[in-house]
Amino acid sequence: MKAGKDKVVSLHYTLTVDGEKMESSHDREERLWVLLGHGQLIPGLEAALEGREAGETLEVAVAAVDGYGERQEGQIQRLSKKYVPQANRLKPGMVTVLQLKEGGQRAVTVHKVGMSAIDVDLNHPMAGKDLHFDVAIGEVREATDEELKHGHAHPPGSAAH
Ligand code: ZN
Repeated sequence: MKAGKDKVVSLHYTLTVDGEKMESSHDREERLWVLLGHGQLIPGLEAALEGREAGETLEVAVAAVDGYGERQEGQIQRLSKKYVPQANRLKPGMVTVLQLKEGGQRAVTVHKVGMSAIDVDLNHPMAGKDLHFDVAIGEVREATDEELKHGHAHPPGSAAH
């Protein structure tokens, strides 16, 4: 079976940026399960998986624009420290995760730390970066109705969610 829209794939991946390993599913010893065609992956990676089959390994170069997007100007925002978890431990360049008022979370990069406020860069920490993925495809299968309804893959043994 070939990977593509409405298929579920399991994969191991390692992400390298500027020659530095950023993250790897091998560190978690669990494969990543994704439902293709539902925005679970960055577009460049999703496109590279199209038509691939179980057992294939691939190297994927994803330009910033097909990854986390280009960096945008005017994305620095000043926040009162009381709204930032562990504000006093943060230093410029560190990535921290903010809870959004409207729900969900957002990774931001600390730009400047002041006495009572912190300036954060709302650009995704990997915005503007060219990404290199080493991918090994474990399994390709049809998505279940439930997965299609939820818009994400259900890894084996996971509770319904
Ligand atoms: Zn679900």
